[in-house]
Amino acid sequence: MENNIILTGDRPTGSLHLGHYVGSLRKRVEMQNTGKYQQFVMIADLQALTDNADNPQKIRDNIMEVMLDYLAAGLTPDKTTFLVQSHIPALYELPMYYSNLVTMSRLERNPTIKNEIKMRNFERSIPVGFMTYPISQAADITAFKAKYVPVGEDQLPMLEQAREIVNSFNRVYNCDILVEPEAVLPDSDSCNRLVGTDGNAKMSKSLGNCIYLKDDEKTIKTKIMSMFTDPTHINVTDPGHTENNPVFLYLEAFSTDEDFKKYLPDYANLQEMKEHYERGGLGDMKCKKLLNSVMQEYLAPIRARREEYAKDMGEVLNMLRKGTEKAVEVSNETVNEVRNAIGINYFNDKTFMDKIFK
Ligand code: ATP
Ligand code: MG
Repeated sequence: MENNIILTGDRPTGSLHLGHYVGSLRKRVEMQNTGKYQQFVMIADLQALTDNADNPQKIRDNIMEVMLDYLAAGLTPDKTTFLVQSHIPALYELPMYYSNLVTMSRLERNPTIKNEIKMRNFERSIPVGFMTYPISQAADITAFKAKYVPVGEDQLPMLEQAREIVNSFNRVYNCDILVEPEAVLPDSDSCNRLVGTDGNAKMSKSLGNCIYLKDDEKTIKTKIMSMFTDPTHINVTDPGHTENNPVFLYLEAFSTDEDFKKYLPDYANLQEMKEHYERGGLGDMKCKKLLNSVMQEYLAPIRARREEYAKDMGEVLNMLRKGTEKAVEVSNETVNEVRNAIGINYFNDKTFMDKIFK
């Protein structure tokens, strides 16, 4: 049987933003709606603890927020299994086995980790749990035998690490239990790593440069109108740059030719508008106004769905509880196979027992 299993997750360190949406959520919803996949979506509270050990309240506060964001984006419990990481025993048992197959120097080489250490100003006091979260993440993926992992490009080194663990495990224990996962990246470059509203290379909760899925109309407008653009584009007549300009990168991620017909018929499409901006003669305000119209139209139904689900939080909690129960069952099966492969399933192992009772 062909493997059609998807797993992804998000750290409950805040509400989800446009970066999450274009980097991963939009793809999850698309894949879910094809009806061809079995999808697990995990709230990664254990991973969030690795750099928030002293602030568990932040994580508690965001569990239901992230659930609402999932539902708002269009994930549904009939087609997707929602789970919370800390309640799945397999997810702390498997890292115990996998960590013996990974060297310290391999962890230190991980470019995402290197970058995140810099961002968090850990310097030399890096928590062990943080350093080893790529191993834990390999456990999350392999516990469900997931083949597909829809993520932004910052996660590619994590998938590489997971594949290495799968290969080592299958080789060392002479089995083919674990499945090699592959990343499912967004369709365009601007979505792979969505820039922040401040022009910083990545929109990130930790950097405070986000437009959140739950932001109201007024907040969205304020954020867009004060967005970073091209600092060399001072007068309208100056030639402008579009390549690292968040306004154009967001338009690339969200606008369609239909939007131009509706909101800015001076141009047939984004390409024509870009060319005008680069030649000079097109002001930032006009671009931002278009972006605001596009984003308001895009985010209104997402916000409306969120408000609808938020009316019955008991039901939302049930979705997470039921999904977590199912996830425990599925992942326990993998753990059993893993224990068998290593040979530490003493009480259920016939050859082990036969030796004792011969
Ligand atoms: P934190 O600052 O707490 O690390 P984050 O905003 O980086 O939060 P994560 O929970 O680490 O978010 O990421 C969840 C998923 O969203 C990952 O698949 C990641 O690739 C994707 N993602 C996050 N930010 C972006 C972004 N700016 N562009 C594209 N994808 C993103
Ligand atoms: Mg992150």
